Amino acid sequence: MSEGLLTGTEMTQKQLVDPSEDTLRRLREAFNSGRTRPAEFRTAQLQSLGRFLQDNKQLLQDALAKDVGKSAFESDMSEIILCQNEVDLALRNLQAWMKDESVSTNLLTKLSSAFIRKEPFGLVLIIAPWNYPLNLMIVPLVGAIAAGNCVVLKPSEISKNTEKVLAELLPQYLDQSCFAVVLGGPEETRQLLTHKFDYIFFTGSPQVGKIVMAAAAKHLTPITLELGGKNPCYVDDNCDAQIVANRVAWFRYFNAGQTCVAPDYILCSQEMQERLVPALQNAITRFYGDNPQTSPNLGRIINQKHFKRLQGLLGCGRVAIGGQSDEGERYIAPTVLVDVQESEPVMQEEIFGPILPLMTVRSLDEAINFINKQEKPLALYAFSNNNQVVNQLLERTSSGGFGGNDGFLYLTLPALPLGGVGNSGMGRYHGKFSFDTFSHQRACLLRSPGMEKLNDLRYPPYGPWNQQL
Ligand code: NAD
Repeated sequence: MSEGLLTGTEMTQKQLVDPSEDTLRRLREAFNSGRTRPAEFRTAQLQSLGRFLQDNKQLLQDALAKDVGKSAFESDMSEIILCQNEVDLALRNLQAWMKDESVSTNLLTKLSSAFIRKEPFGLVLIIAPWNYPLNLMIVPLVGAIAAGNCVVLKPSEISKNTEKVLAELLPQYLDQSCFAVVLGGPEETRQLLTHKFDYIFFTGSPQVGKIVMAAAAKHLTPITLELGGKNPCYVDDNCDAQIVANRVAWFRYFNAGQTCVAPDYILCSQEMQERLVPALQNAITRFYGDNPQTSPNLGRIINQKHFKRLQGLLGCGRVAIGGQSDEGERYIAPTVLVDVQESEPVMQEEIFGPILPLMTVRSLDEAINFINKQEKPLALYAFSNNNQVVNQLLERTSSGGFGGNDGFLYLTLPALPLGGVGNSGMGRYHGKFSFDTFSHQRACLLRSPGMEKLNDLRYPPYGPWNQQL
């Protein structure tokens, strides 16, 4: 850490004394000056953001390892490289994304210029959670910069080590008249939300999403809510249990299960449950060894509060695999629960940890009915050798994203939007969707001040010719 920089606590106190009045004024003035609008400015900031990721890769990996015990591979794949890819994509496409979009005209507007202008909203607030604390801050930031906005970033106070790197180092790479990192927890965030922003982008839980939405409503501020929930995973009887187990286990235990799009629970027949349990055991042993606690590839639970919550869930159903925990290390073993009932807490709340319950159903219809009784999830997964079964799940349910015969691999494609529906959120981003999210699409029609004779047709007194218009 460079000398002279504030410690996390000092920094927090300092930022909270000025919980943003001045900062917001400074940023708004910068936006109003038009500074962020030219493509050159946006390009320079994006390039600088790329340098932040490259120069501080090791620091970021270390911070992510301290926060959730993330392995270097998982940090690279799901945070650092993913962010870098978004920066590169935005840099390659910025000119094309910014271009006015021409639209066709009608009889009344012939000889006019009609187009959609992609206009920055102005001052944007981005609030991030702790589970992918870099990715979920930087990827929206890429879109906000590309679209020409000024931005206030509010990282999660829970992933303290990453928060510190973001707060201390990121501002050194960005134009500080246009971008600021503000620190704090629930109380400070609520205070921040009393201010007027031109757009709010929030990633976190549905409970806090409602607080953010209510605060935004006071100023009629448009928002994106990237929320969570319980993501069902249906497994058909005709599947190869080992293939399903490999794919589900990787996505369930990635980041120690603290992933918003992780398969949250499996729905399958009793017969498939009996085949899946040994297959899941094989996958877990192959990935994390005989004693997963010593594996460098398995993360840890973010804090004591979540550790205790997850420990409580281990009492649901019957433990078929794992079930061990170690409070000192905030370690929860990769766990599979069977004979789980719908009414148990593990089936009522988002698990957000390395616990996978299996609930048996007698048919595809029963699974679909069960899924449709719940809130709309962020992701839904269907495993079957029969395309019709996968298609039925796709057709008869709703979710933010959908994975057929795999987990959340779809997140690696920037051409696909990430976003929820219903209780799992509203709005979308990644790739060009991020640029569009942070842009107001302004309808523009530019006409000639002359040629008034042509307009006579539209004015009263109306006659039969008006109907031709
Ligand atoms: P959270 O909602 O508790 O916190 C998110 C942010 O809101 C943090 O920056 C926090 O400081 C702030 N906050 C917390 N309580 C607040 C309050 N009362 N008032 C105002 N601000 C408050 O979420 P979390 O625990 O950090 O993250 C886990 C949740 O996020 C899960 O539900 C998960 O599914 C969801 N999530 C969703 C996505 C997605 O892409 N949709 C990605 C990651 C996580």
